[in-house]
Amino acid sequence: MAKVIFDHVSKKYSGNVMAVKDANLEIKDKEFVVFVGPSGCGKTTSLRMVAGLEEISEGNIYIGDNIVNNVAPKDRDIAMVFQNYALYPHMDVYNNMAFGLKLRKFPKPEIDRRVKEAAKILGIEGLLDRKPKALSGGQRQRVALGRAIVREPKVFLMDEPLSNLDAKLRVQTRAEISKLHNRLQTTIIYVTHDQVEAMTMGDRIVVMKDGIIQQVGAPLDIYDNPTNVFVAGFIGTPPMNFLDGVVKEVGGKFIVDMGPIKVKIPDGKFKQIREYLNKPVVFGIRPEDITENIGSAPDDEIIVGTVDVSELLGAEVNLYMSVGELSFTASVDSHTRATDGEKHQVVFNSEKIHLFDKQ
Ligand code: ADP
Ligand code: MG
Repeated sequence: MAKVIFDHVSKKYSGNVMAVKDANLEIKDKEFVVFVGPSGCGKTTSLRMVAGLEEISEGNIYIGDNIVNNVAPKDRDIAMVFQNYALYPHMDVYNNMAFGLKLRKFPKPEIDRRVKEAAKILGIEGLLDRKPKALSGGQRQRVALGRAIVREPKVFLMDEPLSNLDAKLRVQTRAEISKLHNRLQTTIIYVTHDQVEAMTMGDRIVVMKDGIIQQVGAPLDIYDNPTNVFVAGFIGTPPMNFLDGVVKEVGGKFIVDMGPIKVKIPDGKFKQIREYLNKPVVFGIRPEDITENIGSAPDDEIIVGTVDVSELLGAEVNLYMSVGELSFTASVDSHTRATDGEKHQVVFNSEKIHLFDKQ
């Protein structure tokens, strides 16, 4: 159990690759933090610096109250679970889990206690005498977690541990890792490129792009208040709609003018709205914040668009719509019947709109 701090941490690989740029972050004791971002954004490098597997070019990393920059990996009291969880094929599950403790010369009864306890937590007590080849992918992944749990580390580091599992098992194991966190009460730093994993698992999410931390916050906070177009587009599915517009003042009210679509900005919604006045902005709205006109909307809020394609997903329908040269996706409930090519009336929920600086 320990906090982990990134204090102005940068990593430069040979060949001038800046993999991580001036990262500042305080991960609290017992917190479950998820690093998320596209491939190559510096997630694994960040984790490997905490583990001590990668030298830190600039800044300091703290585990607990200590700077660990020059502490050997084995002395950092951390355990890492990788994507490619190589188990020893000739050892049974018990010995795969016990191996690290044996190396560290733990007494036998202590090893036995820890292995059995971890097996119980993970629900693999019945598999202890099996060899890895007699296990399913999900069971192997649990053994890999078990190997980390028996170490009773202060901090767990997990690098895309679910990416080799099929979709159904991934969802199941996702929930198990969250439960595991509740049980173990340990700090976990978890890395994934999958924004759904990040949204569902973390106490807080750290969104990265090109080696730079873009935003840190609770999942819903990031979802509701993304700080830039990248974060807004990366978190949430189907992705947020972005349209180019200009903020105008009409009769004392602010609107975003996107040509064929104009949206009223509710009074007081954006504190800095005057700074946007008459400037190009990126207007954002999530597909679920576009609803069908069920007859109650004022005329000037009704948007009549063409349904180019509709996609029935089960509980909802994605309508890929256009108005003139503008296109957007609306995610509406599945009672909606829309034929491709037909006109359809929708309303943008103006309380849920976003404005971003045009880069
Ligand atoms: P992620 O885990 O988010 O996919 P990484 O941390 O693996 O990203 O990589 C970040 C950047 O650093 C990438 O541009 C990658 O090519 C580069 N990189 C990673 N490891 C090395 C290395 N050992 N030497 C040089 N460049 C590296
Ligand atoms: Mg990686």
